[in-house]
Amino acid sequence: MANDVQQYKCPNCAAELRFHPNKQGFVCEYCDSFFTPEECKAANEEMNAQAQQNAPMSDAFENGNQLFSCPSCGAEIVTDCNTSATECFYCHNPVVLKGRLSGEYRPSKVIPFRLTREDAENLFKNWCSKRKFLPKTFTSQSQLMHMAGVYVPFWVADCDINGTMRAVCKKLRSWTSGNYRYTETKEFDVFRQAKLKFEGIPADGSSKIEDALMEAIEPFDYQQTVPFEMSYLSGFLSDKYDVNKVQVFPRIRNRAVNGSDQLLRSSMIGYDSIRVTQSDMQILRTDWQYMLLPVWFMTYEYQGKQYSFAINGQTGKQAGTPPLATGRLLAVCAAIAAACTAFGALIGWVIA
Ligand SMILES: [Zn+2]
Ligand SMILES: [Zn+2]
Repeated sequence: MANDVQQYKCPNCAAELRFHPNKQGFVCEYCDSFFTPEECKAANEEMNAQAQQNAPMSDAFENGNQLFSCPSCGAEIVTDCNTSATECFYCHNPVVLKGRLSGEYRPSKVIPFRLTREDAENLFKNWCSKRKFLPKTFTSQSQLMHMAGVYVPFWVADCDINGTMRAVCKKLRSWTSGNYRYTETKEFDVFRQAKLKFEGIPADGSSKIEDALMEAIEPFDYQQTVPFEMSYLSGFLSDKYDVNKVQVFPRIRNRAVNGSDQLLRSSMIGYDSIRVTQSDMQILRTDWQYMLLPVWFMTYEYQGKQYSFAINGQTGKQAGTPPLATGRLLAVCAAIAAACTAFGALIGWVIA
């Protein structure tokens, strides 16, 4: 029997949609989106056409990549065929060749590195020089060798939003006449409806890298984005994404919905008070780009805790939590205490 049931995918997160008999439309159980049958059909036709267009490029990707895996932390590292990965950039253990990644992991865009290893090392040394009590090994040459140029997998989303907002807004006017003070309050029922488009909302697709660390080295300049070619990976490493679109969608949605809400609020000008009674931001469509963004990345393990340091490989913006050498800190405290004792002794002697 032929299977003629049309299976639609969610235009926002690509999960499979379910027909809802009461609403006479399609709902996504993962991201709570709703679409009419027409919206659904149009979006899916476009998505299929795009997938077909990308097929030949996927072949080139499949033949040109190498996949290494880390037996100790489970990281999966991708390079091109001319670059070999020897150690895991997360845990510094040796990695083993696993084969190749399939075309579905092919990135569509990349922002190429602008900072060389030398630039990154200098920025790191400069960052360290401004911080006290770092463990000596953190700034050593052998630690610097662990710094890796990593193309971090990112989901970058453009969202089309239909926003509506209703609010009770007030304008106040006061004046004095004779012995009386008058206040006039005018109340307005304000309604806003807008079609909004948010472009380039990023979320990293790697569960091993802290979201906050990647957000701290934003923004990236998407003007320098180019179509992905294997040759960009030459000499650099990449990480296979392990957080998919469905999983990052809540992060993207929060940023898009909050941004839309703020825009509509800020359009209500000239009032003394605004009380929003209804706000509904519906994401109609999300276009995803799976992109590789350049990061100089370093991890450091100290007293059982892992510290990460990252430099935006395009702009040079740095972020990380420095480890504190408790030994060096204690030594300084001891020295201060000794100086105080000596000072006390001196005073004691003068008084005596
Ligand atoms: Zn969805
Ligand atoms: Zn590892």
